[in-house]
Amino acid sequence: MNERHHRVLAIGECMVEMAPRADGAYTRNFAGDTFNTAWYLRRLLPEAWSVDYCSAVGEDRISDHMLGFMQKAGVGTDSVRRISGRTVGLYMIELDNGERSFSYWRGQSAAKLLARDRDVLSAALERTDVALFSGITLAILSEEDRRNLLEALAEARRRGTRVAFDPNMRLRLWPNVAVMCAAVAEAAEVADIVLPSFDEDGQYYGETSPLETIARYRNAGASTIVVKNGVGRIHAEGREEGVVTFDPQPVAQVVDTTAAGDSFNAGFLSVRLSGASMGDAIGRGAQVAAQVIGKRGALVGIDV
Ligand code: ADP
Repeated sequence: MNERHHRVLAIGECMVEMAPRADGAYTRNFAGDTFNTAWYLRRLLPEAWSVDYCSAVGEDRISDHMLGFMQKAGVGTDSVRRISGRTVGLYMIELDNGERSFSYWRGQSAAKLLARDRDVLSAALERTDVALFSGITLAILSEEDRRNLLEALAEARRRGTRVAFDPNMRLRLWPNVAVMCAAVAEAAEVADIVLPSFDEDGQYYGETSPLETIARYRNAGASTIVVKNGVGRIHAEGREEGVVTFDPQPVAQVVDTTAAGDSFNAGFLSVRLSGASMGDAIGRGAQVAAQVIGKRGALVGIDV
């Protein structure tokens, strides 16, 4: 029997990625922060867990391909709505002397409507043990839809769902720093597990130490906080464990840091959710992220 007992639901936007090849042609992939975490979680979690994605796509062929890609990877798509007249967002990577730059076409993407219907969201969150979302998920929504999402998450949390949140602060998706910080603060109030990166939170909240970042999220009500910091020391806090630090082993040859944080989150959650200590969970996150930045692309093969 292959009975599933637990369920993770990642909520956000997956996009078409056009990545340059050495010969000047482009390869089409699918990626997006919360989807990347779901993709790695599927590889890392035992079969007893199901991993589902909650989003919206169009009814066109490229949307079919995206859903097919998710399903083939083992990520459930029952909570992905289809919206006629819309399609999926796209980004293109440009390489200039090894430096990557990104251009986005996502202003009208279907995913922007993922939280339009509160009842649909509540239904998607039913029987969910862990719900995961990010600051990018919030950034693509209208203010009203953002409220729908946070209310649905708060309601699920009252029913026992654990909520995980990566602030993933991307200023260009927001009108200004104040609006972005206010939205992240509201999201933190519905989260149990918060997984920020110090280079963003420190900058936008004017914090000079990861301990200040931890204190802010603890005051918002989070019980598990892990502050990533590139190759630098990770600071974390668990309600029972207090502050824990971890120094990642530097990766000698960093090829592409895309999805470092997303894959770290998957590694961390994959063991933390089954009760592992903070130190073990961070070690797993760092080990997964180290493999991911050693290869090109957001979604890469890893030794599990
Ligand atoms: P984000 O991608 O969200 O900005 P970070 O850059 O903080 O996230 O990286 C996430 C994790 O990836 C870090 O906590 C660390 O474990 C790992 N990592 C990032 N850069 C390196 C590196 N140069 N060497 C080893 N590990 C790294």
